[in-house]
Amino acid sequence: MTALLDAALGYAARGIPVYPVHWPRLLPGGASLACSCPRGPSWDRPAKHPLVRHGVKDATTDPGRIGRWWRRWPQANVGLATGVVFDALDVDGPAGLAALRQFAPTADLRLPGPLVATGGGGWHAWFRPTGLGNRPPRGLAHVDWRGRGGCVLAPPSRHVSGGSYRWLRGLDQAPLPEVPAVLRDLLDPVLPTTTRPTRTVGPDMAGHPYGRRVLAGELAALGRATPRHRNHTLNRCAFKVYRYVASGLLDDAEVTAAFTQTALAIGLDPAEVGRTLASARTAGLANPRGVPLVAWWSARSRRWRSRSPSTPCAASPKPSRSCRPAGAGCSPPPSTDSCSPRS
Ligand SMILES: [Zn+2]
Repeated sequence: MTALLDAALGYAARGIPVYPVHWPRLLPGGASLACSCPRGPSWDRPAKHPLVRHGVKDATTDPGRIGRWWRRWPQANVGLATGVVFDALDVDGPAGLAALRQFAPTADLRLPGPLVATGGGGWHAWFRPTGLGNRPPRGLAHVDWRGRGGCVLAPPSRHVSGGSYRWLRGLDQAPLPEVPAVLRDLLDPVLPTTTRPTRTVGPDMAGHPYGRRVLAGELAALGRATPRHRNHTLNRCAFKVYRYVASGLLDDAEVTAAFTQTALAIGLDPAEVGRTLASARTAGLANPRGVPLVAWWSARSRRWRSRSPSTPCAASPKPSRSCRPAGAGCSPPPSTDSCSPRS
């Protein structure tokens, strides 16, 4: 298995941090493959679990350390940290390719740089680093972006389906291109001024008491989080609140400042706070949520007692049984504190 070690050393020589990843191993009987880790077949992402404790955070370009890893695990798949030398556009098979083609039917979106066929039937197109973190390009299904803090498997890693990762266009065959502008537009964090959709219930709702109550409740929940669940709680609570920022009920900067302050106060690491908030913000802003009908209606009824009815709201908020935002049907973004490589 020197090919794996040689490849790992080759990536490291280019400045790409490398780490070892579990590999597909034949199950007893020899009929099918499973992850070499002891987690069992029910675990997601077989043959993509890191062999080192901190996953991509342990990735290195140190040839000595890489040599020790692959001498210990000669069959280890090769995981690479993205966001350092390259970012990767992760196209998840034909469905992802179709989404790209639909998005750029005039072939604006060429993939001229290094290109990997993943062992699972998809593609990784490598680009120069953008400085952005992991995020799905807005509006593109089955397509993902692996940037700062992210990771991918690289040739000649093997996929649990039996296929191998291979170069369709190698690193020596094409320079790393800049991300096409049309794609970059889908990746850039959305500024609140451009993403705020039509306010659910009108301009008088900015800084709405309901939004304030949600913010206070989620900050309190974060304050109560146990050390083990702090980062996850930050992610979940901030996601909920940013959804109200997206609908104009709360101020973006104020929310970020409040969560940062509380997260630091409960002992979270500043870098982790930044990453988690950024991820929660991106997801929250993409999923605006207005005042639930019950709360909106009672507030409106109170107003009606003092003045005549104003124009009806443009978009009726979804009814909700309780005033507490449940986030139903919309799960929080994955936390950024761990990473297993993409297909
Ligand atoms: Zn595994």
